[in-house]
Parts: sequence; C-alpha cells; structure tokens
Amino acid sequence: MNYRTIVGLEIHAELLTESKMFCTCSAAFGGDVNTHCCPICIGLPGTLPVINKRAIEFAIMAGLSANCKIAEKSKMDRKNYFYPDLPKAYQISQYDMPLCTDGYLEIETESGTKKIGIERIHMEEDTGKSLHTEDGSSLLNYNRCGVPLIEIVSRPDMAGADEATAFLDKLKGILEYIEVSDVKMEQGSLRCDVNVNVVADDGRKTEIAELKNLNSFKAAAKAIDYETKRHIEALEAGENTLKETRRWDDAKSVTVSMRSKEYAHDYRYFPEPDLVEMEISQEWIERIRKELPELPQAKKDRFMKTYEIPEYDAGVIVSSKALAAFYEEAVKLSGDAKLASNFMMTEILRRLKDMDSDISDMPFDACDFADLLKFVKSGTVSNNMAKKVFREMAETGRKPEKIIEEKGMKQITDESAIEEIVDRVISENPQSVEDYRNGKDRAVGFLVGQAMKASKGKAAPQTVNRMVREKLK
Ligand SMILES: [Zn+2]
Repeated sequence: MNYRTIVGLEIHAELLTESKMFCTCSAAFGGDVNTHCCPICIGLPGTLPVINKRAIEFAIMAGLSANCKIAEKSKMDRKNYFYPDLPKAYQISQYDMPLCTDGYLEIETESGTKKIGIERIHMEEDTGKSLHTEDGSSLLNYNRCGVPLIEIVSRPDMAGADEATAFLDKLKGILEYIEVSDVKMEQGSLRCDVNVNVVADDGRKTEIAELKNLNSFKAAAKAIDYETKRHIEALEAGENTLKETRRWDDAKSVTVSMRSKEYAHDYRYFPEPDLVEMEISQEWIERIRKELPELPQAKKDRFMKTYEIPEYDAGVIVSSKALAAFYEEAVKLSGDAKLASNFMMTEILRRLKDMDSDISDMPFDACDFADLLKFVKSGTVSNNMAKKVFREMAETGRKPEKIIEEKGMKQITDESAIEEIVDRVISENPQSVEDYRNGKDRAVGFLVGQAMKASKGKAAPQTVNRMVREKLK
C-alpha cells in the first residue's frame, strides 16, 4: 500500500512595529519584566483598544508579497479562551474577514517548481509569557502581551517534511526581505504549528494531528517524519489516529498528546465590539505595493543576469537578504562576481552551516572578504592558501593582509626560486623520472606534489606544473 503525507502549516510572525497592536506600549523584545505594559494590554476593565495602523500595513505587505488578495473590508473578532498569560481572557484576532486571502508561494522540489497555497493571513495580538518555577508557582510577564502578530495559514499542499521546510524557508526569506518581522525562531518572533495526516491509496485517511512547540525548522521536519510514520502504522494496523493536538518533545524526538483539537466553535468568536470595521482603499494598497523592496525571486533573476552566476548559486545566495547584501558588496569591492560566488558557496556557507549562524554573526565584513578575493586575483595567495586565510579570518576576525603577512603565506611567483625547488625535487626522485620515461604520466603529479610540499604550499601551482613538465621533457 502506498501512502501520501499531507502537511499544512500555521505560522505566527511577530511584527516589527515600535508599539503594540492596540496600545502605545513598546513592542520590543525583552525588557525588564512587566515594564512594557499599560491598562489596555493587561486588560483592565473599561479600557479601549486602538488599532496600530503600521501593523495593518505590515500585514498587507506580507499579503502582497505572498500573492494574496487584500480585503476591502476587514474586521477584528474576539477569540475567547482562558489562559493565564492572556489577561483579558480573550484574544483579539480575525475570524471570518481576514485581511489577506488566497495567496501562494512557489517552492523548488525535486520534480520542479510547486505552488503552495496560502489560505489566509490574519492579524492578532500575542499573549504574555508564563514562567513556571521549580517551587511549583508560575510567574507572568506581560511584556509580549498585545504585540502584533500575523498568522499565515497555508493550504494542506505540502507532501512531507522537505516541502514544508522549503515553504518555511521561502516564507522566512520574504518576511526578512520586506522587514516586517525579524523572524528569529529562538526569540519566538517566528513560530510554527504543523497539521499532518496521511492518506492511503485505497482512500482511507487518518485524522489530522496538530503539532505544537516546534522551535526550529529542523524540529518541524523531524516531527512531520515522526507523525507520518505513526499515522502509517495506525492505518496498517487497521486503525485510525485521533484528531488531537500534540507537542513535539525535541529531547526525546517524539510527539506527545496534549489535548483533543479545538474546533472554531470552542472559541465562541464574535466581532470585537470595541473596534470598527476596517475599510482598506485600493490607493492605500497600491501605495504599500510601491514601497515593497526587491523580493527574493526578482533579486535571484537579477543576480543571474548581472553577475552571470548559476541559478542554483543565485538561489542560495538570495535566500537571506543579509547574505545577498554581503555578496553584492563583495562583488562591488573586489570586481569579481564569479570568484565571490564560488567562495561563498563553499567556504562561507560551510562555515555558517557548521556554526549554525548568520552572516551577520561572522567576525569579518564584506570589505575584508573582498580584500581576500583581491589577493587571490592578483596571485598573492593561491586558492588553497586563501581557504586557510579565510578560516583564520572566520575564527579570529583578523584582516587578511595581516594573516598572510604574519604566516608567510604569500605565493612564490618568482620563477628562479621555483626552478630551484623543481630541480632539487627532480634530482632527489630519480625513480619518478625513470617512471616518466617509461610512460607513466602519474610521475608528473607526484613530482608536482613534492615540489609544492617543498615550497610549503606557497609556490604558484601552475608554474610548478609547467616547469616539471618542461624539465622532464
Ligand atoms: Zn499597553
């Protein structure tokens, strides 16, 4: 029996407004506990919310970037539920008239480009945070309470962990590009819930499991794989899964049942009576559209055309706005787009992956990187040496010229110096010369290797290669 996994995502992104969704308190991350609070965001009776216009603009920017229709009329609704970090005992959200609907993002899969539908993007306010202490009590911090959020709800169009990861990467990239969210999962400004179920070829299907507590894209992928297996096992045993909410336990790499899944009617939605309906004019939407910066796809096309780099490389480099900016700066300063992209695709990306960090965390800047490229271009250091210099730059943040100088890494280009080394190596290896005479071309490679070793890797490799061949002839 064949099975198909069906994945849908719900992503919450905190918006980068200065103030909160319905009051003038700071929306900044952190701060001393309960200092970004006022009677409105801690829900005291008699207070009235006022909509943050900038938050609506940010949501519209996200909607336009994700190919959504922007509603002409939209409203806020109360979603009622009791939770200690939600002091009003309801959250102002959007129910049946969301701001943005019917969008899509395109992802790259093994079988080509695939459109993943976006059902809706709506606005809501964030909750506070509970801190459970060891003595069994709970402390509440309302600084985050009322920070504007958008919830992006995808259609169940993804067929597994790979496609879900590609979608998350794409969405994260776009939100980063348009600067409406700082998309930091570790600070909770980007959070995702996953809906998974499995359909068998004979039409049987499992109930949807909603997965929570996924604090990285990796965790989301692992949780999807785990659930897929669990759902298939249920179907193979002639059973079904429960419609429920499950929590991902990252340490144990398993999902654990939390509660049966809520339905919309559990929340008793009704229109927020303290806020009027919003009317969004076409002019406003068009003004916002004009303000949108270059998006990843447009940047990728431009990089391929202007810098003549392969599609794959361009795609990787533009996946992060900061990485793309770093690349453009390095190209401008070094004048070598191809060398810059080669170096980025290998050394820099490997480093970022190993350190699990962003380009902005590196201790060198685009100017230092461009200097290194210039040393390669001018033949001051070989490609191999440049990699060593780069590693040192990445570890210590020291300038490339300092490293090259101090470590004596300058390439030897002086022909007479190289000739001396080659002569010595040839006279020390009569057997290789004999092998060459007997038609064993491998001997050339060996002698070049020995000469490079004798120069401590500093001799210009092309010169060594040419000279060894000339001498043997
Ligand atoms: Zn407030």
